Amino acid sequence: MNNYVKKVLEDLKKQNPNEPEFHQAATEILESLSLVFDKHPEYEKAGLLERFVEPERVIMFRVPWVDDKGVTHVNKGYRVQFNSAIGPYKGGLRFHPSVNLSIIKFLGFEQILKNSLTSLPIGGGKGGSNFDPKGKSDNEIMRFCQSFMTELYRHIGQDTDVPAGDIGVGAREIGFLFGQYKRIRNEHVGVLTGRGLTYGGSLVRKEATGYGLVYITEEALKAVKDSLKGKTVAISGSGNVAIYACEKAQQLGAKVVTMSDSNGYIYDKDGIDLNLVKEIKEVRRGRISEYAKEKSSAVYTEGCSGVWTVKCDVALPCATQNELNSDSANALIKNGVKIVAEGANMPTTLEATEILQKAKVIFLPGKAANAGGVATSALEMAQSSGRLFWSFEEVDSKLKGIMSNIYNNIAQAAKKYDLEGNFVAGANIAGFEKVAEAMMAQGVC
Ligand code: NDP
Repeated sequence: MNNYVKKVLEDLKKQNPNEPEFHQAATEILESLSLVFDKHPEYEKAGLLERFVEPERVIMFRVPWVDDKGVTHVNKGYRVQFNSAIGPYKGGLRFHPSVNLSIIKFLGFEQILKNSLTSLPIGGGKGGSNFDPKGKSDNEIMRFCQSFMTELYRHIGQDTDVPAGDIGVGAREIGFLFGQYKRIRNEHVGVLTGRGLTYGGSLVRKEATGYGLVYITEEALKAVKDSLKGKTVAISGSGNVAIYACEKAQQLGAKVVTMSDSNGYIYDKDGIDLNLVKEIKEVRRGRISEYAKEKSSAVYTEGCSGVWTVKCDVALPCATQNELNSDSANALIKNGVKIVAEGANMPTTLEATEILQKAKVIFLPGKAANAGGVATSALEMAQSSGRLFWSFEEVDSKLKGIMSNIYNNIAQAAKKYDLEGNFVAGANIAGFEKVAEAMMAQGVC
């Protein structure tokens, strides 16, 4: 590894102890940027990498709220504004009990390169809370979101920082957050994306991450003269990304046989009945185990990692970070998997990624493969600014174009550095080159 890159990575680990997810993301990214720094010694003089790995701003705050029984609770709120070199900070909010600074920093760091890959003018940020929306009433969710926004509003804005959804933050939460922002600022602007269609949202935003994931998977298969038609697909998760990945894969003629949640997974030998999954997850807000109770062709198994032992041609991890480890990678390879494309952020461990790449499985990293969500968020921002409302077909065709461009750019970047087929390196390099150029142009700041 380039000595400068090595030193920055070592310092990052020393200066940010107890942040394992941030270390993991930084290791993966910096290792593949080594060759870029060999080529650009001027970056070291400009302290480019030290600045790139340090967030421009970290905001941490208290979120007090009162439950339906009148009991007061306090959660932690975060917004990491990582890098604004190419545009306003952009990235989702995650509400999940596991949320901590390390997780928000890893997500924000990845987001810089992902947003750059979309070719749209958006910088990188991420936020959230260790609040658990599971089992809360709509009123409790509303009170929490209002309290969260009562602090966050002063740090965001349509030209400053535009948050969106992520795990635990869907249409309902975005609605409550937006309502509170509008009330405090007296402004109806595009300060959040993923808004409902009646108040400034964009068609296709809900479907975008899952659809985009499948579009880029199809693109990668096309490059090896293959397609999704007739393929067996294993999907993990049963949230926003998983559901719409399943929908598009089925539309393109694939058979999706699994879905999961944090308790376990279902295997349906006849192919997933997506209407039933939507009814359970989107309407009832229930558990995936209910599917197997209502469908005789399906089996439910406790524990979510078993999902990768199911035989498939295509694996789409769409739940959470580090859900696919080296055992899972070996099981997938043994079962003849051809392609693994990450719908979630960093679902594959570093070791598992290496195992898959060594076995010549096509591996598409999340920052490229799940960029369709943020890309469509940027299209929502464009519509908000122009007071426009594009048709489903128009947004969907732009999304398809963006995913195809991303595939071509990451494939070419890998080739340029003699790393053909290494889409991890390709995505990191292609995303970084644009950010680096913008940072150099703007001086030391
Ligand atoms: P949702 O909250 O809609 O769904 C998350 C799914 O993952 C649920 O099925 C959930 O199960 C499961 N899950 C969450 N935590 C764990 C865990 N610790 N172990 C096992 N399963 C878990 O989130 P999204 O679908 O929006 O997000 C999924 C992934 O995609 C995340 O990594 C997110 O960062 C990434 N992503 C999302 C984008 C978007 O537009 N929504 C854009 C780009 C990336 P349970 O219900 O049991 O918690």
